[in-house]
Amino acid sequence: MPTGLYIDGEWGPGRDTFAVDNPSTGSILAEIAEGGPNEAKAALDAAVEAAASWRAWAPRKRADLFHRAHDILIERADSFAEIMVAESGKPRREAESEFALSAGFFLWYTEQIAHLHGTYQDGSPGGYRVIETHQPVGPSLLITPWNFPLLMSARKAGAALAAGCTVVMKSARETPLTAALFVQALHDAGFPAGVVNLIHTTTSADVSAALMEDDRLRKVSFTGSTQVGQTLLGQASKHIVNSSMELGGDGPFIVLDDADIDLAVDQAVACKFRNAGQACVAANRIILHSAIAEEFTAKFVARSRELRVGDGFDPEVAVGPMISERQRQRALGLVQSFRSIGAELLAGGSAPDHDGYFFEPTVLRFPLTRHEFQHEELFAPIAALYTVNSVEEALEFANDTPYGLSAYLFTNDLSRAVAIAEHLDFGMVGVNRGIMADPAAPFGGIKASGLGREGGHDGIYEFLERKYVALTID
Ligand code: NAD
Repeated sequence: MPTGLYIDGEWGPGRDTFAVDNPSTGSILAEIAEGGPNEAKAALDAAVEAAASWRAWAPRKRADLFHRAHDILIERADSFAEIMVAESGKPRREAESEFALSAGFFLWYTEQIAHLHGTYQDGSPGGYRVIETHQPVGPSLLITPWNFPLLMSARKAGAALAAGCTVVMKSARETPLTAALFVQALHDAGFPAGVVNLIHTTTSADVSAALMEDDRLRKVSFTGSTQVGQTLLGQASKHIVNSSMELGGDGPFIVLDDADIDLAVDQAVACKFRNAGQACVAANRIILHSAIAEEFTAKFVARSRELRVGDGFDPEVAVGPMISERQRQRALGLVQSFRSIGAELLAGGSAPDHDGYFFEPTVLRFPLTRHEFQHEELFAPIAALYTVNSVEEALEFANDTPYGLSAYLFTNDLSRAVAIAEHLDFGMVGVNRGIMADPAAPFGGIKASGLGREGGHDGIYEFLERKYVALTID
């Protein structure tokens, strides 16, 4: 397992090291090289140096290299699953799903490489031609969070490299090993020196500020909190750096009076408790029509109580630990403050007394649908239930948020589903589905949830500039 920084095609030491722990046990997994602004600059130097030759690679040659890398990823599926369980705590089954999705995104971009095309047309007044084409945006900084460490690395690097950009990847402090394993696979496939670079650090703000100050950096693609996204957008304004932002969410999960309740409960359990609730697309507000609220609540609470909490390597475990003691304390604080303003505790609510950062699957019923009862992304295994009396009330409450990432709707009336989906102010809407990520679909949000999309037909264009050439014809 490489534990160094990967710069210009080689693993090397940093200015120091830091420890990565296993959130299920609190034990140290590895000592990792720590990068600072100097190492980040060296990585950018390498990415700039390699940019011209990488963008000149013929599409088929680049696609062949991607296919080799994809084959290597598949061969190492077990190692990826194991390292994700160890450093992020997620249950093995979830780590395997994340691996499959990550490899799927990488393959999606592989297949896009040789399919990019331009246009050629008459200029409007005649006498010349308009050629429209694309070119790589340039050296790119990719900043990923810890909650889906492989998916975020593969989705960003896949798009950037497929588009012909060179990259500096900045791993999450909690999950550097997954990113290292991914970069090792690219190295072994034969990606040229400087095309991919990887920095680990405990001082992300310093590292990214140093890179954002440098006008050779042309793109930042970030997944994480809205607050850090705002900081980066501020920094990006200095050199007008092209920016893609996948930020926080406050997803409503609406269950209407005609819904299939068993399906809705099943999907709500997955959507809420997957990754111990630490997902940007998690159901943040479960909004129930009063006609089915009681039945849904009884079944959902029963299912929540059945979920086994523990070490993700145990195949019976459905909910792993939170990522850190700090996050666990935050979850405890949320439960206390919600109860103090009148929320009723229906399940869970406490932190088991183990070494790891475990927290019980928790269900709270809120008395009103007003947002003063909940302002923030829970990012914890805490389900918040609300009751409404009409579709209009559900829609109004669902949209009453600064965020706009994902929303979920359960109804058996298709025309009602389409009408409501059109009025939900979110980038993604799941109808009778609580899990939506798919390489073929554009993942992303609106409002405070971000800018740009990852995956789908347009994902690769986040790393391409559009250019037109006007050509005079005699
Ligand atoms: P975070 O914003 O604290 O960290 C995300 C990444 O940014 C990490 O690599 C971190 O080291 C780095 N970072 C932290 N401060 C920085 C700074 N000042 N400058 C540059 N980089 C900095 O978020 P987190 O706690 O790791 O992840 C949780 C958040 O991410 C949640 O809000 C969640 O909704 C969001 N998220 C969004 C998506 C999405 O696709 N929309 C996916 C996963 C997570």
